[in-house]
Amino acid sequence: MLRAVSGFIFPFAFLFLCSSFQIGGISGRKPIKVRTLIIDPGHGGLYPGTRGLISTEKDVTLDISLKLGEAVKNKFPDMKVVFTRTTDACVNNATNLHDDLHGRAEIANQAKGDLFISIHCNSTRQPPGGYYEKRVIGHKKKLAYVGRGSKKRKKWINAPIYESYWVKNMRVGTETYVWKADRNTKKGDAINERDENGEDITDSSEESFDLSSPEARMRAQLYEKKYFDNSALFATLVEQSFVTAGRESYGVKQRDVGIQVLQATGMPSVLIEVGFLSNKEEEEYLNSNDGQDEVVQDIMDALKRYKDQLEGSPDTIEAAPANTTQQ
Ligand SMILES: [Zn+2]
Repeated sequence: MLRAVSGFIFPFAFLFLCSSFQIGGISGRKPIKVRTLIIDPGHGGLYPGTRGLISTEKDVTLDISLKLGEAVKNKFPDMKVVFTRTTDACVNNATNLHDDLHGRAEIANQAKGDLFISIHCNSTRQPPGGYYEKRVIGHKKKLAYVGRGSKKRKKWINAPIYESYWVKNMRVGTETYVWKADRNTKKGDAINERDENGEDITDSSEESFDLSSPEARMRAQLYEKKYFDNSALFATLVEQSFVTAGRESYGVKQRDVGIQVLQATGMPSVLIEVGFLSNKEEEEYLNSNDGQDEVVQDIMDALKRYKDQLEGSPDTIEAAPANTTQQ
């Protein structure tokens, strides 16, 4: 689950009005290969994430992530898959959330990932499954104590009659987050360590670390733009896949804070909320083999289309706009 923080969620439809995606971000560039995929199962170890009636987020995200990794290895044997965790543990055995999240980004950056997929489950703020609420269904005369201290006395009052009723957690569906570019954060550093062809230039150019120089800033801006476009493209394809599979979709959203793991990765990166553990049926779906396989297949379909578009001709292919609902 992605805890709401003091950020804003930008209606993604606006972006589609402003510009269509140029694959690869900047036209004329040679196609980008998706060689290394980073899969990040959300939470783990000390941090269970959200809880449903029968499961916790850290377990569901690990199951789905491992299956996704298997599917990628089978379908794209040339693609390298790197997991941030493969067991129920904090990343690098971190003992605090900061180290855990930064450990994930570090693994991704060290592996020189071409795409980062973080898997999460969603939840409403209410108890999983549902909860009881009370409503007044009438009144009855009742003897009750009124007043305080020496003025306390018994009196007939009109007391409300309550009835408890069950409120089911109905909210279901998926949403995918991308990071809003801001070159003053860690992403600027990670981006700046790569040259125009996506190669690591840490050793060859000291200047590339200096974000204060105008060239470095321009470079960071350029690459944030590139990663943003491809992050948004992949996120859009993921949500389109979910919609095609009949899932409810809240669409693609961007955030500027609160998604630390996306902020620190120097590559296109998305955070997929694969469904609500707070809804009984969706939790069962996300815990079932069929449900997990379907989620994996939806992400695989998106990955295939993303790869095709990126590795095809960058000047001729444009992504279709997202056909998803917005909040
Ligand atoms: Zn989560």
